[in-house]
Amino acid sequence: MNTLTQEQLFALANELDADMVGSCELPFSPIPELPNLKYALSVGVKLSDAVLKTIESAPSFVYFQHYRTANTRLDQIAFTLAREIEKAGFLAMPIAASQSLGKNNPYNGVLPHKTAAVLSGLGFVGKSGLFLSKDYGSKVRLATVLTDMPLTSVYPVIENGCGNCTACQTACPAGAIYGALPTADGERNFDAEKCSRYMKEHFQDIGRGSVCGICIKVCPKNKLN
Ligand code: SF4
Ligand code: SF4
Repeated sequence: MNTLTQEQLFALANELDADMVGSCELPFSPIPELPNLKYALSVGVKLSDAVLKTIESAPSFVYFQHYRTANTRLDQIAFTLAREIEKAGFLAMPIAASQSLGKNNPYNGVLPHKTAAVLSGLGFVGKSGLFLSKDYGSKVRLATVLTDMPLTSVYPVIENGCGNCTACQTACPAGAIYGALPTADGERNFDAEKCSRYMKEHFQDIGRGSVCGICIKVCPKNKLN
């Protein structure tokens, strides 16, 4: 059995080309059958500025392809990190970048990646409902590894930094963003069903109705190059 430290895990995530890595202890395991899986490693990759610039009033084909590639990249990073943790004798479960609990619960996954990322001090949840990284804004994709390997948070939790901005609410063609800060009880500040319905009705031919990107493109925290 290998020995493995949190620092080595962070270094491996960086070697695997993650742009962000953090860790935290969750209030409880999101997997009822595995209550000790209450530690999370949060990883993120930054999306391309050039690709985001191709989004106007609709997503672009290059954005759709880039989004899927970023998810694949993240899944590989989380998969490798989970394998290393299990080689060290712990349990580890990679949670896919794009997750759903099926037809009966399409807008939720095992856990929101943004919950782990926020508790890891990597950023905050904006009025758009998106996770905003302290370094890259919302132009990031996330994945998570759940584990029973004790991990601690190394960065302080960051407060919401949207201020008076409502750019995402104004730009959203579906009217799905309420323009409110996320509440502490985790209640959604946007209507996921409205967002999804709009994408399916209007962007079927571009991103198979599963991507949009407008609220990412307009966010001033992204500072596109
Ligand atoms: S992805 Fe598009 S439709 Fe959905 S909330 Fe963002 S701007 Fe609105
Ligand atoms: S567009 Fe403005 S309000 Fe929306 S998430 Fe970005 S900073 Fe926050």
